[in-house]
Amino acid sequence: MTLPFIRADLADLAAYQSHPQTVAEGGQNASPTLLDRLDTNESPDDLPEDLKQKLAWTLQNQVESNRYPDGGHLALKQAIAEYVNESANLTAGFGATQISVGNGSDELIRSILIATCLNGEGSILVANPTFSMYAILAKTLGIPVIQVGRTDTFEIDLDAAQTAIAQPTLTPVRVVFVVHPNSPTANALTSAEIEWLKSLPDHLLVVIDEAYFEFSQTTLVSEIQQRFNWIVFRTFSKAFRLAAHRVGYAIAQPPLTAVLEKVRLPYNLPSISQSAAQVALKHRSQLLATIPQILQERETLIAKLSQTPSLKVWPSQANFIYVTLPETHSATTLMAIHHTLHQQGTLIRNIAGGFRITIGTPEENARTLSRLTTVLAELAV
Ligand SMILES: *Cc1c(COP(=O)(O)O)cnc(C)c1O
Repeated sequence: MTLPFIRADLADLAAYQSHPQTVAEGGQNASPTLLDRLDTNESPDDLPEDLKQKLAWTLQNQVESNRYPDGGHLALKQAIAEYVNESANLTAGFGATQISVGNGSDELIRSILIATCLNGEGSILVANPTFSMYAILAKTLGIPVIQVGRTDTFEIDLDAAQTAIAQPTLTPVRVVFVVHPNSPTANALTSAEIEWLKSLPDHLLVVIDEAYFEFSQTTLVSEIQQRFNWIVFRTFSKAFRLAAHRVGYAIAQPPLTAVLEKVRLPYNLPSISQSAAQVALKHRSQLLATIPQILQERETLIAKLSQTPSLKVWPSQANFIYVTLPETHSATTLMAIHHTLHQQGTLIRNIAGGFRITIGTPEENARTLSRLTTVLAELAV
Protein backbone atom coordinates (compact mmCIF):
# COMPACT_ATOMS: atom_id res chain seq x y z
CA MET A 1 0.00 0.00 0.00
CA THR A 2 1.30 3.42 -0.89
CA LEU A 3 0.99 5.82 2.00
CA PRO A 4 0.05 9.23 0.63
CA PHE A 5 2.10 11.14 3.23
CA ILE A 6 5.43 9.34 2.57
CA ARG A 7 8.16 10.77 0.30
CA ALA A 8 7.77 9.30 -3.17
CA ASP A 9 11.51 8.53 -3.51
CA LEU A 10 11.35 6.12 -0.55
CA ALA A 11 9.00 3.81 -2.47
CA ASP A 12 11.93 2.23 -4.32
CA LEU A 13 13.95 1.54 -1.17
CA ALA A 14 13.80 -1.74 0.72
CA ALA A 15 14.61 -2.02 4.42
CA TYR A 16 18.16 -3.16 5.13
CA GLN A 17 18.35 -6.94 5.54
CA SER A 18 20.94 -8.18 7.99
CA HIS A 19 21.52 -11.93 8.30
CA PRO A 20 19.10 -14.00 6.24
CA GLN A 21 16.45 -15.55 8.47
CA THR A 22 17.34 -18.72 10.29
CA VAL A 23 14.99 -21.56 11.16
CA ALA A 24 14.61 -20.18 14.67
CA GLU A 25 13.21 -16.97 13.21
CA GLY A 26 10.82 -18.92 11.01
CA GLY A 27 12.80 -18.50 7.82
CA GLN A 28 11.40 -20.20 4.75
CA ASN A 29 14.51 -21.89 3.43
CA ALA A 30 15.15 -24.16 6.36
CA SER A 31 18.82 -24.20 7.27
CA PRO A 32 20.66 -25.28 10.39
CA THR A 33 20.15 -22.97 13.38
CA LEU A 34 23.80 -23.32 14.27
CA LEU A 35 25.38 -21.22 11.62
CA ASP A 36 28.91 -20.21 10.90
CA ARG A 37 28.13 -16.52 10.59
CA LEU A 38 30.87 -15.41 8.26
CA ASP A 39 28.92 -12.72 6.44
CA THR A 40 29.31 -9.61 8.62
CA ASN A 41 33.02 -9.49 9.56
CA GLU A 42 32.46 -9.66 13.30
CA SER A 43 35.05 -11.15 15.62
CA PRO A 44 34.50 -14.89 16.07
CA ASP A 45 35.11 -14.53 19.82
CA ASP A 46 32.77 -13.01 22.38
CA LEU A 47 34.28 -10.93 25.17
CA PRO A 48 36.35 -13.03 27.60
CA GLU A 49 34.44 -14.18 30.68
CA ASP A 50 36.18 -11.77 33.08
CA LEU A 51 35.24 -8.76 30.96
CA LYS A 52 31.66 -9.99 30.59
CA GLN A 53 31.48 -10.12 34.36
CA LYS A 54 32.92 -6.64 34.69
CA LEU A 55 30.26 -5.37 32.33
CA ALA A 56 27.51 -7.23 34.20
CA TRP A 57 28.78 -5.71 37.43
CA THR A 58 28.68 -2.26 35.85
CA LEU A 59 25.11 -2.79 34.72
CA GLN A 60 24.09 -3.96 38.17
CA ASN A 61 25.97 -1.42 40.27
CA GLN A 62 26.68 1.67 38.26
CA VAL A 63 24.09 2.13 35.52
CA GLU A 64 21.04 3.95 36.81
CA SER A 65 18.36 2.59 34.52
CA ASN A 66 15.98 5.43 35.33
CA ARG A 67 18.51 8.09 34.26
CA TYR A 68 19.45 9.22 30.79
CA PRO A 69 22.95 8.21 29.73
CA ASP A 70 25.86 10.65 29.67
CA GLY A 71 25.05 12.63 26.54
CA GLY A 72 28.51 14.19 26.32
CA HIS A 73 30.54 10.94 26.31
CA LEU A 74 33.53 12.79 27.75
CA ALA A 75 35.20 9.89 29.57
CA LEU A 76 34.77 7.64 26.55
CA LYS A 77 36.12 10.28 24.16
CA GLN A 78 39.21 10.74 26.32
CA ALA A 79 39.86 7.00 26.37
CA ILE A 80 39.37 6.84 22.59
CA ALA A 81 41.74 9.77 21.99
CA GLU A 82 44.42 8.04 24.04
CA TYR A 83 43.99 4.84 22.02
CA VAL A 84 44.03 6.71 18.70
CA ASN A 85 47.28 8.44 19.64
CA GLU A 86 48.82 5.16 20.66
CA SER A 87 47.61 3.45 17.47
CA ALA A 88 49.28 6.08 15.27
CA ASN A 89 52.39 6.66 17.43
CA LEU A 90 51.40 10.27 18.01
CA THR A 91 52.85 11.98 21.07
CA ALA A 92 51.35 15.43 20.66
CA GLY A 93 48.13 13.86 19.55
CA PHE A 94 44.38 14.14 19.73
CA GLY A 95 42.15 15.04 22.65
CA ALA A 96 38.45 14.61 23.38
CA THR A 97 37.47 17.62 21.24
CA GLN A 98 38.73 15.80 18.15
CA ILE A 99 36.54 12.76 18.78
CA SER A 100 32.81 12.24 18.23
CA VAL A 101 31.05 8.99 19.03
CA GLY A 102 28.07 7.43 17.30
CA ASN A 103 25.61 4.59 17.64
CA GLY A 104 27.85 2.56 15.38
CA SER A 105 29.73 4.20 12.52
CA ASP A 106 26.41 3.97 10.73
CA GLU A 107 25.15 6.89 12.79
CA LEU A 108 28.29 8.89 11.99
CA ILE A 109 27.78 8.27 8.28
CA ARG A 110 24.24 9.56 8.56
CA SER A 111 25.31 12.59 10.59
CA ILE A 112 27.90 13.49 7.97
CA LEU A 113 25.28 13.17 5.22
CA ILE A 114 22.84 15.35 7.14
CA ALA A 115 25.52 17.95 7.78
CA THR A 116 26.80 18.15 4.20
CA CYS A 117 24.39 17.21 1.44
CA LEU A 118 20.84 17.49 2.74
CA ASN A 119 18.39 19.96 1.15
CA GLY A 120 19.78 19.36 -2.33
CA GLU A 121 23.14 20.86 -1.36
CA GLY A 122 25.32 18.11 -2.73
CA SER A 123 26.03 14.52 -3.73
CA ILE A 124 28.36 11.88 -2.42
CA LEU A 125 30.96 9.93 -4.38
CA VAL A 126 31.68 6.23 -3.82
CA ALA A 127 33.78 3.72 -5.79
CA ASN A 128 31.99 0.39 -6.19
CA PRO A 129 32.21 -2.22 -4.95
CA THR A 130 32.46 -0.69 -1.50
CA PHE A 131 30.61 -0.58 1.84
CA SER A 132 26.94 -0.35 0.89
CA MET A 133 25.82 1.78 3.83
CA TYR A 134 27.00 5.12 2.38
CA ALA A 135 24.67 4.82 -0.62
CA ILE A 136 21.82 3.27 1.38
CA LEU A 137 21.79 6.04 3.99
CA ALA A 138 22.24 8.74 1.34
CA LYS A 139 19.18 7.47 -0.53
CA THR A 140 17.04 7.50 2.62
CA LEU A 141 17.87 11.19 2.89
CA GLY A 142 17.22 11.91 -0.80
CA ILE A 143 20.92 12.58 -1.41
CA PRO A 144 22.25 11.67 -4.89
CA VAL A 145 25.01 9.06 -5.03
CA ILE A 146 27.64 9.31 -7.76
CA GLN A 147 29.16 5.90 -8.34
CA VAL A 148 32.44 5.23 -10.09
CA GLY A 149 34.14 1.89 -10.65
CA ARG A 150 37.45 0.31 -9.75
CA THR A 151 40.34 -1.10 -11.78
CA ASP A 152 40.78 -4.85 -12.18
CA THR A 153 42.81 -4.82 -8.98
CA PHE A 154 40.07 -2.88 -7.17
CA GLU A 155 41.78 0.50 -7.05
CA ILE A 156 39.45 3.45 -7.41
CA ASP A 157 39.02 4.58 -11.03
CA LEU A 158 40.68 7.92 -10.31
CA ASP A 159 40.02 9.38 -13.77
CA ALA A 160 36.30 8.67 -13.45
CA ALA A 161 36.30 10.05 -9.90
CA GLN A 162 38.09 13.21 -11.00
CA THR A 163 35.63 13.69 -13.87
CA ALA A 164 32.65 13.18 -11.56
CA ILE A 165 33.96 15.78 -9.15
CA ALA A 166 34.65 18.33 -11.90
CA GLN A 167 31.16 17.88 -13.44
CA PRO A 168 29.15 21.09 -13.25
CA THR A 169 25.82 20.14 -11.69
CA LEU A 170 23.18 21.46 -9.34
CA THR A 171 24.28 18.98 -6.69
CA PRO A 172 28.09 18.85 -6.93
CA VAL A 173 30.03 16.20 -5.04
CA ARG A 174 30.51 17.36 -1.46
CA VAL A 175 31.78 14.16 0.18
CA VAL A 176 34.07 11.35 -0.96
CA PHE A 177 33.75 8.11 1.01
CA VAL A 178 36.63 5.62 0.97
CA VAL A 179 37.25 2.52 3.06
CA HIS A 180 40.81 1.72 4.16
CA PRO A 181 41.05 -1.27 3.66
CA ASN A 182 38.00 -1.55 1.41
CA SER A 183 35.06 -3.86 1.96
CA PRO A 184 34.30 -6.25 0.24
CA THR A 185 37.61 -6.33 -1.66
CA ALA A 186 39.97 -6.18 1.38
CA ASN A 187 42.60 -3.95 -0.26
CA ALA A 188 44.12 -0.94 1.48
CA LEU A 189 44.40 2.41 -0.29
CA THR A 190 47.46 2.59 -2.54
CA SER A 191 49.84 5.55 -2.41
CA ALA A 192 48.35 6.78 -5.71
CA GLU A 193 44.87 6.76 -4.17
CA ILE A 194 46.14 8.54 -1.06
CA GLU A 195 47.90 11.16 -3.19
CA TRP A 196 44.67 11.72 -5.09
CA LEU A 197 42.73 12.20 -1.84
CA LYS A 198 45.36 14.70 -0.72
CA SER A 199 45.00 16.58 -3.98
CA LEU A 200 41.26 17.13 -3.54
CA PRO A 201 40.18 20.73 -2.97
CA ASP A 202 39.20 21.56 0.60
CA HIS A 203 35.58 22.34 -0.27
CA LEU A 204 35.21 18.55 -0.45
CA LEU A 205 34.99 16.43 2.67
CA VAL A 206 37.05 13.23 2.62
CA VAL A 207 35.76 10.40 4.80
CA ILE A 208 38.21 7.58 5.45
CA ASP A 209 36.53 4.60 7.04
CA GLU A 210 39.09 2.58 8.99
CA ALA A 211 36.70 -0.05 10.35
CA TYR A 212 39.39 -2.70 9.85
CA PHE A 213 42.35 -0.68 11.15
CA GLU A 214 43.24 -3.17 13.89
CA PHE A 215 43.77 -5.83 11.22
CA SER A 216 45.53 -3.68 8.61
CA GLN A 217 47.58 -1.53 11.01
CA THR A 218 47.55 1.15 8.37
CA THR A 219 45.98 4.47 9.25
CA LEU A 220 45.67 8.01 7.95
CA VAL A 221 44.71 9.65 11.27
CA SER A 222 47.90 11.70 11.46
CA GLU A 223 46.69 13.56 8.34
CA ILE A 224 43.79 14.94 10.35
CA GLN A 225 46.19 17.29 12.11
CA GLN A 226 46.86 19.16 8.84
CA ARG A 227 43.47 18.78 7.16
CA PHE A 228 40.20 20.28 8.35
CA ASN A 229 38.33 18.56 5.47
CA TRP A 230 39.29 14.98 6.39
CA ILE A 231 37.57 12.71 8.87
CA VAL A 232 38.47 9.17 9.93
CA PHE A 233 35.84 6.70 11.14
CA ARG A 234 36.55 3.67 13.27
CA THR A 235 34.37 1.19 15.10
CA PHE A 236 34.23 -1.14 18.11
CA SER A 237 32.18 -3.63 16.07
CA LYS A 238 35.03 -5.62 14.55
CA ALA A 239 38.39 -6.17 16.32
CA PHE A 240 37.03 -4.99 19.70
CA ARG A 241 34.23 -7.60 19.62
CA LEU A 242 31.44 -5.16 20.51
CA ALA A 243 29.11 -5.32 17.50
CA ALA A 244 26.15 -5.84 19.86
CA HIS A 245 26.85 -2.53 21.60
CA ARG A 246 26.90 -0.24 18.53
CA VAL A 247 29.80 2.10 19.16
CA GLY A 248 31.69 3.90 16.42
CA TYR A 249 33.82 7.04 16.51
CA ALA A 250 35.10 9.78 14.29
CA ILE A 251 38.40 11.65 14.45
CA ALA A 252 38.47 15.15 12.95
CA GLN A 253 39.43 18.71 13.76
CA PRO A 254 37.21 20.42 16.37
CA PRO A 255 35.10 22.53 13.95
CA LEU A 256 33.96 19.32 12.23
CA THR A 257 33.40 17.23 15.38
CA ALA A 258 31.35 20.17 16.69
CA VAL A 259 29.03 19.82 13.68
CA LEU A 260 28.63 16.09 14.31
CA GLU A 261 27.70 16.88 17.90
CA LYS A 262 25.05 19.32 16.64
CA VAL A 263 23.22 16.93 14.33
CA ARG A 264 23.32 13.71 16.36
CA LEU A 265 20.57 12.58 18.71
CA PRO A 266 21.19 13.87 22.25
CA TYR A 267 21.37 10.46 23.94
CA ASN A 268 22.67 8.41 21.05
CA LEU A 269 24.67 5.93 23.09
CA PRO A 270 23.17 3.80 25.88
CA SER A 271 25.07 3.80 29.18
CA ILE A 272 26.00 0.14 28.95
CA SER A 273 27.42 0.64 25.45
CA GLN A 274 29.59 3.49 26.68
CA SER A 275 30.81 1.29 29.53
CA ALA A 276 31.44 -1.60 27.16
CA ALA A 277 33.62 0.54 24.92
CA GLN A 278 35.55 1.85 27.94
CA VAL A 279 36.07 -1.65 29.30
CA ALA A 280 37.24 -2.81 25.87
CA LEU A 281 39.73 0.05 25.60
CA LYS A 282 41.04 -0.50 29.10
CA HIS A 283 41.65 -4.16 28.29
CA ARG A 284 42.71 -3.62 24.70
CA SER A 285 45.93 -5.61 24.93
CA GLN A 286 43.93 -8.64 26.06
CA LEU A 287 41.22 -8.19 23.38
CA LEU A 288 43.53 -7.39 20.49
CA ALA A 289 45.89 -10.25 21.36
CA THR A 290 43.88 -12.63 19.16
CA ILE A 291 44.46 -10.58 16.02
CA PRO A 292 47.72 -12.31 14.98
CA GLN A 293 45.84 -15.62 15.12
CA ILE A 294 43.08 -14.27 12.89
CA LEU A 295 45.67 -12.99 10.41
CA GLN A 296 47.42 -16.36 10.50
CA GLU A 297 44.10 -18.14 9.84
CA ARG A 298 43.44 -15.73 6.99
CA GLU A 299 46.76 -16.53 5.32
CA THR A 300 46.15 -20.26 5.71
CA LEU A 301 42.67 -19.98 4.18
CA ILE A 302 44.00 -17.86 1.31
CA ALA A 303 46.80 -20.34 0.63
CA LYS A 304 44.47 -23.35 0.67
CA LEU A 305 41.67 -21.77 -1.37
CA SER A 306 44.25 -20.57 -3.90
CA GLN A 307 44.89 -24.22 -4.78
CA THR A 308 41.39 -24.33 -6.30
CA PRO A 309 42.08 -23.35 -9.92
CA SER A 310 38.62 -21.90 -10.54
CA LEU A 311 38.83 -19.44 -7.63
CA LYS A 312 40.58 -16.11 -7.67
CA VAL A 313 41.50 -15.35 -4.06
CA TRP A 314 42.43 -11.72 -3.47
CA PRO A 315 45.04 -10.53 -0.99
CA SER A 316 43.57 -9.14 2.22
CA GLN A 317 44.48 -6.47 4.76
CA ALA A 318 41.39 -7.17 6.86
CA ASN A 319 39.61 -9.94 8.79
CA PHE A 320 37.84 -11.23 5.70
CA ILE A 321 38.76 -12.43 2.26
CA TYR A 322 37.28 -11.77 -1.13
CA VAL A 323 37.09 -14.49 -3.79
CA THR A 324 35.83 -14.31 -7.34
CA LEU A 325 35.07 -16.86 -10.06
CA PRO A 326 36.11 -16.61 -13.70
CA GLU A 327 33.83 -14.25 -15.64
CA THR A 328 32.30 -17.16 -17.53
CA HIS A 329 30.27 -17.97 -14.42
CA SER A 330 26.98 -16.24 -14.00
CA ALA A 331 25.24 -14.69 -11.05
CA THR A 332 23.13 -17.85 -10.97
CA THR A 333 26.20 -19.94 -10.16
CA LEU A 334 27.15 -17.58 -7.35
CA MET A 335 23.64 -17.78 -5.95
CA ALA A 336 23.67 -21.56 -6.14
CA ILE A 337 26.97 -21.77 -4.27
CA HIS A 338 25.80 -19.27 -1.69
CA HIS A 339 22.55 -21.17 -1.21
CA THR A 340 24.26 -24.55 -0.84
CA LEU A 341 26.67 -23.20 1.77
CA HIS A 342 23.78 -21.63 3.64
CA GLN A 343 21.94 -24.95 3.67
CA GLN A 344 25.03 -26.55 5.14
CA GLY A 345 25.34 -23.86 7.78
CA THR A 346 27.91 -21.44 6.38
CA LEU A 347 26.79 -17.87 5.83
CA ILE A 348 28.96 -15.78 3.54
CA ARG A 349 28.25 -12.59 1.60
CA ASN A 350 27.48 -12.84 -2.10
CA ILE A 351 28.48 -9.41 -3.29
CA ALA A 352 29.62 -7.63 -6.45
CA GLY A 353 30.21 -10.83 -8.38
CA GLY A 354 32.21 -12.57 -5.67
CA PHE A 355 32.09 -13.82 -2.11
CA ARG A 356 33.20 -11.95 0.98
CA ILE A 357 34.07 -14.44 3.70
CA THR A 358 34.82 -13.45 7.29
CA ILE A 359 37.71 -15.18 9.02
CA GLY A 360 36.12 -17.13 11.86
CA THR A 361 37.38 -19.66 14.37
CA PRO A 362 39.82 -22.31 13.08
CA GLU A 363 36.91 -24.80 13.04
CA GLU A 364 34.72 -22.44 11.05
CA ASN A 365 37.50 -21.73 8.58
CA ALA A 366 38.13 -25.44 8.09
CA ARG A 367 34.42 -25.95 7.35
CA THR A 368 34.45 -23.00 4.94
CA LEU A 369 37.37 -24.53 3.08
CA SER A 370 35.84 -27.97 2.83
CA ARG A 371 32.29 -26.85 2.01
CA LEU A 372 33.35 -24.30 -0.58
CA THR A 373 35.79 -26.60 -2.38
CA THR A 374 33.21 -29.40 -2.35
CA VAL A 375 30.42 -27.32 -3.83
CA LEU A 376 32.75 -25.94 -6.50
CA ALA A 377 33.67 -29.50 -7.47
CA GLU A 378 30.03 -30.61 -7.47
CA LEU A 379 28.98 -27.75 -9.71
CA ALA A 380 32.05 -28.40 -11.87
CA VAL A 381 33.08 -24.78 -11.45
C1 LIG B 1 31.60 -3.11 9.71
C2 LIG B 1 31.86 -1.78 9.12
C3 LIG B 1 31.56 -0.63 9.83
C4 LIG B 1 31.04 -0.71 11.23
O1 LIG B 1 29.81 -0.15 11.35
P1 LIG B 1 29.16 -0.01 12.82
O2 LIG B 1 27.94 0.78 12.52
O3 LIG B 1 30.16 0.74 13.65
O4 LIG B 1 28.93 -1.38 13.32
C5 LIG B 1 31.83 0.59 9.25
N1 LIG B 1 32.38 0.68 8.03
C6 LIG B 1 32.69 -0.42 7.32
C7 LIG B 1 33.33 -0.29 5.99
C8 LIG B 1 32.43 -1.68 7.84
O5 LIG B 1 32.72 -2.76 7.13
